[in-house]
Amino acid sequence: MSDAAALASRLGALALDLVVESVIDPVPSVRRVRLTGPGLENMAPQPGQDVMLAVSPTSRRRYSVRAYDATGPWVDLDFVLHGDGPAVTWATSAQPGDSISVVGPRGKVMVDPEAEWHLFAGDDTFVPAGFMMVESLPAGRRAIVIMEVDGDSDHQSLETAAALDGPHWVHRAGAPQGEAGRLVTALQGLDLPAGPGHAYLAGELRVVSAMRSVLLDKGMAAEAISPKPYWRLGVANQDHGEPQRD
Ligand SMILES: Cc1cc2nc3c(=O)[nH]c(=O)nc-3n(C[C@H](O)[C@H](O)[C@H](O)COP(=O)(O)OP(=O)(O)OC[C@H]3O[C@@H](n4cnc5c(N)ncnc54)[C@H](O)[C@@H]3O)c2cc1C
Repeated sequence: MSDAAALASRLGALALDLVVESVIDPVPSVRRVRLTGPGLENMAPQPGQDVMLAVSPTSRRRYSVRAYDATGPWVDLDFVLHGDGPAVTWATSAQPGDSISVVGPRGKVMVDPEAEWHLFAGDDTFVPAGFMMVESLPAGRRAIVIMEVDGDSDHQSLETAAALDGPHWVHRAGAPQGEAGRLVTALQGLDLPAGPGHAYLAGELRVVSAMRSVLLDKGMAAEAISPKPYWRLGVANQDHGEPQRD
């Protein structure tokens, strides 16, 4: 059994050898890679879930599903072009026909069916999962969306049957990624709706922790908050794709 197959079987996921079908940049800071291949029709990821990619012989990285079609079959992954790292290097050079080993679906953060309102907040890396989750919400629910990107050219459009408050784009305007202040300020200025709600937070490890603290201070219950660190400032993600924690 290959390493990927053993890992997939341990995780209750699929191990697939997929091929790049197309590559586009929906905005200049993001490379969207569409993967296809046999077996992908059985993956059926839920909005919010991700896949683990073998981006180099020694490194795996996790990327959220931005869109999925079982009939293609295909899956779209959006890579934030943040600088240097095996994942960005792979995505930057990806060409139709390239192959890659994929394990998925992964991830436990999914839409809370009991919540009447949903808050999505994070940086550029959370746009793919957050938008797919918002798109899946039915009419009668409310979605508040706050995403940090560098500027106007990074905005993407979002449509949903739910009542949409946003996306509210928070701009770095040339400042470095991974600073908590802007998203913290945006959350501090937010009036949380009444009724049962759920918050989904993702991005840089310390920024996610700071955002969670703001929501706890506002009276949200810890169980109603799903924080997920996606990367860590100044530290490469571990070889299985998770950011290192202290
Ligand atoms: C469940 C999950 C889902 C994710 N989904 C997505 C997704 O859909 N799209 C996406 O782009 N990312 C996503 N990420 C984050 C992505 O896996 C990390 O950003 C990863 O570190 C990128 O790997 P790399 O090889 O390019 O860089 P690494 O080798 O991990 O890191 C190299 C350097 O780059 C820095 N760095 C890493 N990411 C960023 C960043 N975003 N901005 C600034 N500096 C950074 C690190 O601090 C380090 O100094 C997800 C992560 C997880 C755990």
